[in-house]
Parts: sequence; C-alpha cells; structure tokens
Amino acid sequence: MSSTAEQSILNPSDPSENRSFRALGTKDIDRIPQLEGLDGETRLAMKAVANVLPFRVNQYVIDELIDWSNIPNDPMYQLTFPQPGMLAPENLDRMIGLVAKDAPRMDIVRAAREIQRSLNPHPAGQFELNVPKLDGEVVPGVQHKYRETVLFFPASGQTCHAYCTYCFRWPQFVGLDGLKFASKQVESLVAYLKRHPEVSNVVITGGDPMIMKTSVLARTLEPLLSPELEHLDSIRIGSKAPAYWPQRFVTDADSDALMRLFERVGAAGKHLALMAHYSHPRELSTPIAERALARIQSTGATVRCQAPLIRHVNDSAKAWAELWGRQVQLGAIPYYLFVERDTGPRDYFSVPLVRSLEIFQDAYRSVSGLARTVRGPSMSATPGKVLVDGLLSVGGEDHIVLRFLQARNPEWVGRPFLARFDPEARWLDELVPSDGRSEFFFEAEMRAIEKGVPEAVAAS
Ligand SMILES: *Cc1c(COP(=O)(O)O)cnc(C)c1O
Ligand code: SF4
Repeated sequence: MSSTAEQSILNPSDPSENRSFRALGTKDIDRIPQLEGLDGETRLAMKAVANVLPFRVNQYVIDELIDWSNIPNDPMYQLTFPQPGMLAPENLDRMIGLVAKDAPRMDIVRAAREIQRSLNPHPAGQFELNVPKLDGEVVPGVQHKYRETVLFFPASGQTCHAYCTYCFRWPQFVGLDGLKFASKQVESLVAYLKRHPEVSNVVITGGDPMIMKTSVLARTLEPLLSPELEHLDSIRIGSKAPAYWPQRFVTDADSDALMRLFERVGAAGKHLALMAHYSHPRELSTPIAERALARIQSTGATVRCQAPLIRHVNDSAKAWAELWGRQVQLGAIPYYLFVERDTGPRDYFSVPLVRSLEIFQDAYRSVSGLARTVRGPSMSATPGKVLVDGLLSVGGEDHIVLRFLQARNPEWVGRPFLARFDPEARWLDELVPSDGRSEFFFEAEMRAIEKGVPEAVAAS
C-alpha cells in the first residue's frame, strides 16, 4: 500500500514545510511581532482575557492563516486570539485592573477561577451521564452516549496545536476540571468494547489526539484492531490538526510513520475516518493544508469535516459554501454544522438558531449534491443531537421543525417535532413545543434516564 501513498518529499520553497511545532501562549503575548501594532489598552485586554480563557497558538497559524491587515475582524484572528468582548464588562475590568498593576499571580488566578466558574463550565451533562462502567468500575476516559458509538479520550491527547477561542472544552484547558484517566486506559476500553457488541465505532477525541506522537497514538489504535473486536467497523479520530498544524501529516518527523499507521487500520479491515474540524475556508488555502489532506486520503482513510457556526468567525453563507466547496474539491466530505454550546464566552459567539438555519440553508442551496452530505445546524444537547431542520408555516402560525440525528433512546431518532417560532432562541432549552404541551415528547423519559432509570417509558 505504501507504494501508492503520496510520499513526503520536502519542498524547500514552501516556508510552512520548514517549521517545527512550538506552542505560544499567554506569556508570549509581548513576544509576538504581529501584535506589536496593537495599542497598549488592547494588548492589556488580551492578556486579561487570556488569564481566564485558554489561549494557545502557533507560528503557522500566526504567519499563514491570519490576515493581519484585517484585525481585529479577521476570522482566524477571532478564532484563535482572545478578544475583549469574550468577558462581561465587569469581569474584563476586574482582570484588566489586576493585570495592569501586575498583581500577585495568586490574586490573578483566584479572580480568574471565580469568573470561570460563572461561565457554565459543564453544559449538557456530558460527564456525569455518559460515563460507562465495567464490573461496577468506571471506564476511565470513555463516554458512551449513543448505542453504536463510544468516545475515547486518550490521556496524552488532551491539548491542541492551537486553541479555538470558543471551545466548549475550555474548562479542561484552564485546569478547571479534568477527565479521569488511568494508566491502563486502553486495556479498559478494549475490555469494555469486548462486552459491547452493539458498538460499531469508536471516536478517538480530545483535545486533539493528533497532538500525540505516532508511537503513542499507535498504542491506542492498534489494540482496537484486535480480531476480538470484529464488531468495530470503523474508527474515527477527531482532529483540528489538518487546519492548525497540517505539518503533522506531511513534514513532522513521524508523519510517514503516521501514514503507515493509518494504512494498518485499513489493512485490519476497519475504516478510518479523520473527523477534521475546519472552521473557515482560509484553513484550506495553504499548499501544506492541501498536501495534508492528500496524504491522509492516500492511506485509504476518509476525511469528514465538521465545525460549529460561530459569530465573528463563520457566520455567513458565503464562508460555509466556500468551505464545503473546497472540502469537496479536495476529496473531503462535509459532515456536521454544529450550534455553539451554552458555555464559556458564548454570548460573544452565539448566533440564534433561526439565523443559523438561514445561513445553513443559503449555503446548502448554493452547493452541489456532493457537498449536501452536510447536516445542520445540529445541537449536541443532553437528549441527543437535535437538527434544526427548517421552518414551517401552518394555519398562519410559524414553527421550527426539529429532528433527532442521534439520541439517547434510538427510538427518538428521525422523529420530527415542532417548536414555536422564536427568532432569538439559541438552544433547545429555550424552545417551546408547538402542540400546547408544556414539554417535548422526550423530556419525561429524559428525566427518568437522568435519575438512573434507563428503561423508563415516556409518559406521553
Ligand atoms: C456526535 C457524537 C457522536 C457521534 O455521532 P454521529 O452522528 O455518529 O456522528 C457520538 N457520541 C457523542 C457523545 C456525540 O456527541
Ligand atoms: S481544536 Fe477542538 S478541542 Fe481543540 S480548542 Fe479547538 S474546538 Fe477545542
């Protein structure tokens, strides 16, 4: 297979191929030359925010993805650099006050912690509800929410090559909470999967699993290829590396070994899908980003693409149409458009559901069927992935059509339901059923599940 795979022949004329990875963070703000043009006040505000929300970037993002002639409006700058509007004015002032007078580290951290705790760090019951058990013991670093799919969080894949300013995993990156890991993590995962033949796919996620060296990633992937796990038909890796650090697949010292590892997954009879997080067409504009996609696909893996719709970053039909068009052109498959979750700097980034739908549909209508593999806008809510499917006018009243793409109870999948039209609502819990009932059809059963009675029958 390796003979057909694209080889990593270096192209010395491409500066992005000569980089080695180094992360830049809050302490480097004064050392980034491109920020020298900012006035003192703006830089101070940036430091203030970067003490509360995670900040991490790298030289490739700075030099090749951000258009510095267009800051602060540039979408890639908004995506990676802390902005004053991400904190409420009183919180921003408080942090600016502390940073400006060079307050003791302890005081800054204490104030930051208070603000962090006020930013709804645990939306959608992800951690408590979805943690599986094996013989009464929690399986560390695993979530099992939908019958056929298990999420796996390898301990060494919990950072990223840069941090997205809107990331819903921000509490993990600022050390507010951590997942529980154990040294025999992969062994527990495999033991759990052996007992669960209904699981057909594993999603390896983070952070970003592609932050791991190939040899470390292999320790996660290879046990999943065991003949005893024949019921696994596919393995996904969720990653933003194709956008933030395409060098990972092209020029990093172990990139060839990574390609061979990807090939081994296919050779073992499993499909490997790289679930690439692309937020903006700019991320697909560099030669090395193209080569990364070509190399991944040359191993037999597919690339499926997903991202949330974010104000200041990609809140236009044009951005999405371009993004999907470019993905199709490069052989990647548009997959999900998500709604931003109710956490962290959400007020800065969120777009009302109805507006997101309008952007999605305008973009969807303008692309060919090859790009219409994308589904959205989709909310990853406690009961499941809920699609905002369209607007419907019946008897002079307007409704929002919703549908489960994934659900805690598989019976809910595919069943359309209606909410009253509300141009401001930003999440499922702000919507009201159209049928006059006080709650949606799944809510009573969902409450029972939350109380730990999974077999409960819906009351309606
Ligand atoms: C999105 C998601 C999945 C995968 O869902 P697909 O529709 O199969 O892509 C699995 N588990 C969780 C918790 C998810 O949020
Ligand atoms: S790449 Fe994903 S996990 Fe990492 S910061 Fe961005 S959204 Fe969060």
